Amino acid sequence: MGQLDDRDVILVTLDSCRYDTAERARTPNLDRLGPVHRAETAGTYTLPAHTAFFTGFIPTLLGDWHRIGRNLYDAVWRSGAARPSAKTAAVRVTGRTLMDHYRARGHRIIGAGGVTFFDPQEPANWLPDLFDDFRYYGRPNRTATQSRVQDRDETLTLTHAAELADAVLATDRSFLFINCPSTHIPYTTPLSHLDATAEAALVRLYALHDSKALDSTGLSDDEVAVLLDLQVRALEWADRQLGILFGAVADREPLVVVCADHGEEFGEGGRYGHGHPHSTVTTVPLWSGVLSGAPQ
Ligand SMILES: [Zn+2]
Repeated sequence: MGQLDDRDVILVTLDSCRYDTAERARTPNLDRLGPVHRAETAGTYTLPAHTAFFTGFIPTLLGDWHRIGRNLYDAVWRSGAARPSAKTAAVRVTGRTLMDHYRARGHRIIGAGGVTFFDPQEPANWLPDLFDDFRYYGRPNRTATQSRVQDRDETLTLTHAAELADAVLATDRSFLFINCPSTHIPYTTPLSHLDATAEAALVRLYALHDSKALDSTGLSDDEVAVLLDLQVRALEWADRQLGILFGAVADREPLVVVCADHGEEFGEGGRYGHGHPHSTVTTVPLWSGVLSGAPQ
């Protein structure tokens, strides 16, 4: 295997995807990278989580190793700013960010986002500025107060998987980041549409997310089951779309990391949503490995 620094890189964040969702979902394309790992994220919502990830601090595996090629590592990336450690990292990050690190090695830095922290039209956002080529497919941040319970297709980043694969193939070498909102509330995708039960549960869930109150009169077990099933299907749709991307770029044998930025609480500790440190929020799924050109 060649030097890891010289490879194409793909980093995908499955926004809000719970670890138990990943355990339940059928993900044949993600499984090409190896088994799903249980990991712990440094951020409880999108902005701090991605700030950590983009400096190399992706979620830490719990009692497990990254298998990259034939080698096992404690971490995929480790910032040069981190204190010295006996732990092993596949790549030592010498730039301030992963983007700086790979840009200095000749990679084209491409990004795509779907949740509002990635909307470049929002003056307070800076994550999109880290990329040479950034594509935002989500709803404008300024419309975030309009009805959010809806079916989705074009606003999902991975609907555009073939286009993103073409962007990679047009470069000699690239770092591709994709923030995937299908697993984020309202969990709808072209494979999982709203019905009356889900719609009613989502209206209540948005209110619980917004209130952040400890609420003992939250959703019923049946409503939670409906919503968690939706997230499982949203991950299965993301896996299908990642299959399009992986199929197109596998011959380049990229280093791939796919993880959630944070999970989601459904009342286990009395709250709903994310942005607070409950274990269902901080425990996330992660897949890592070098994508092989040969289907498995
Ligand atoms: Zn997020």
